[in-house]
Amino acid sequence: MSKIGITALVPPELIFACDCSPLDVNNFIPESRKYPRNKLCAWTAIWKEMLIQKEIRIESLIVVAGGDCHNALVDGQKVAMSGTRTHFFFYPFDGDAEYLESQLWRLSDFLGDIKNPDKFKEITNLKKLGQDMDKKRYNGKINPGEAFRILISSSDLQSDPDKFRKAISSIRENNIELNSRVALIGVPPIYHDFHDVAQSLDLAIVFDELPYEFIRHGGNNIREIARDYCNYTFARPLEFRINFLQKELEKRNIDGVIHYTQFACHHMLEDEVIRKELDYPVLTIQGDLPGKTPEQIKLRLEAFREALLRS
Ligand code: SF4
Repeated sequence: MSKIGITALVPPELIFACDCSPLDVNNFIPESRKYPRNKLCAWTAIWKEMLIQKEIRIESLIVVAGGDCHNALVDGQKVAMSGTRTHFFFYPFDGDAEYLESQLWRLSDFLGDIKNPDKFKEITNLKKLGQDMDKKRYNGKINPGEAFRILISSSDLQSDPDKFRKAISSIRENNIELNSRVALIGVPPIYHDFHDVAQSLDLAIVFDELPYEFIRHGGNNIREIARDYCNYTFARPLEFRINFLQKELEKRNIDGVIHYTQFACHHMLEDEVIRKELDYPVLTIQGDLPGKTPEQIKLRLEAFREALLRS
């Protein structure tokens, strides 16, 4: 089965239906020890180097070029120039489902057409399991760090739906005390231990914004996928995303928000709007290179927990 690299959310159900297997190249970064010299955002700079040096083996690459990240657009072109067969995928900023449908048909052509339409239904069912798991997490039945590791891997379903299903069923339910209920918004932290650190400091992360986008969208054919993924919040205007966030935060009974931002990422510019529009205490942190959560950030998380307990 052809391994297809993806640089951000690309409907995995379509990739599997084309008898290919998606591989989210971002999932290599938090554990990576690479420190690229020519970089803006470390996420794109590291996957670019790993792909060019063939440390990540793929047959083709899909770069999400519209509605997501301009660093990925440029670094994706460098990978294309190094000889990797590459397709550029565009989400509509205005949510135009017909435009997205035309993009999905182009993607299907690139992947060699749909050969296994049963995969749509299979992935829909798997995503329902992921959504149930997310619900259990915010109801204090599943450890937030364990839930995050599964949710973040739902962008590519671990390249293997059976493996993903087993990973979900291996999670044990417990009664977890959720004292300070926190939403983690923005791009995911580049630190591999971030959720465990937060948990050890009694900050229970009960919402992960981007991974939740991975499991909440789906569809059983290209038309349905287009009509659902056109509401992928990261590709839409900020106001649309904030409206969605407000509902999710309320539903999850959130006490405070951690806004993670990445060095040299345009999402950093959204911080002031998020702080103004979300009616919760907000802690903004910024990361750069992968590794363990730095001590300075741990201290800020601790101070945030104290502030939440006082409020
Ligand atoms: S963190 Fe920002 S700049 Fe980096 S890959 Fe994600 S969206 Fe792009």
